[in-house]
Amino acid sequence: MSFLKYGITDLHLHLDGSLSPETVLDLAKLQSIELPADTREGLYSYLTAPAGCEDLNDYLKCFELPLQILQTGEALSISAYRLTEELADRGIRYAEIRYAPQLHTRTGLRQADSVLSVLEGVKKAVKMADKKGKNIRVQIILCCMRGIGNTEANLETVYIAEKYLGRGVAALDLAGAEGVFPTSDYEEIFRLAGELKIPFTIHAGEAAGPESIWKALEFGASRIGHGVRASEDRELVEELRRRRIPLEMCPVSNQQTKTVKDFSKYPLKSYLERGLMVTVNSDNMTVSDTWAGAGYEFLRRQCGLTREEAERLSLNGVEAAFLSENEKAALRKSILAEIR
Ligand SMILES: [Zn+2]
Repeated sequence: MSFLKYGITDLHLHLDGSLSPETVLDLAKLQSIELPADTREGLYSYLTAPAGCEDLNDYLKCFELPLQILQTGEALSISAYRLTEELADRGIRYAEIRYAPQLHTRTGLRQADSVLSVLEGVKKAVKMADKKGKNIRVQIILCCMRGIGNTEANLETVYIAEKYLGRGVAALDLAGAEGVFPTSDYEEIFRLAGELKIPFTIHAGEAAGPESIWKALEFGASRIGHGVRASEDRELVEELRRRRIPLEMCPVSNQQTKTVKDFSKYPLKSYLERGLMVTVNSDNMTVSDTWAGAGYEFLRRQCGLTREEAERLSLNGVEAAFLSENEKAALRKSILAEIR
């Protein structure tokens, strides 16, 4: 069996960073939006991070065009449908797609309606995949955003997550420029999430250091987005191991955003050896020009990942999912049947 086949969960996947160029072309046409290029190839440089990408801030520029065309319920529904369809076609069995409702309200769409549209697109695609004999389950994660003056919008996202929790929405997240807006500024948001018993993950230890991850843990995060820079703090690594906190690592994206200066020092293998709950994910299929399965192949080439380690990572993806124990057991069983 091909090494690529191990990528059968994707727990860290942004909708806006994963629109195929075809979807961008179709959505722009549908809404009469002028694009800077009108071919698949021409769009590549606008949607995909350049080889010389400087850092996370540079990487985040690739989201502007997708956000421009994702301002209606219909566009969100179509994009969620297409992404789910692609995941099913690639053999992904379980995915958690995330997006930030507050970034889709520029032309008056309400956050709650954006969520209904994304859920509708996902549901239709899952049904269609099922008809084709491709079994996939997808939940969505709602991102709050780092930034200034958006506390109210973030709190609104938390209440929407509460309303749809277990009905397509799995959890909350905090995304955006971590190096500019520190995790410590978002205590109010996650205090509320905790009171409402909404599980959450936080992007931490990507553009900022260990202190960002310590803060996320203090707030009650049950998973960490990336966590690459935990390796700078021995005590933190031990804490993550002891509490079995899953790290949603995204190797291809992490290389692009220069989370480690020298990629030979990327800590994923050492985390695995030390018994941390590491998972492999894509982050952004278009911005990073990858998918979860390609992340495993990338690790094999860059870090010498073995098949046995790939299998362990794959099963960690099940363990770390925002699913009940019964659901995890069923997913584990079907994944084991596939990879062994
Ligand atoms: Zn991310």
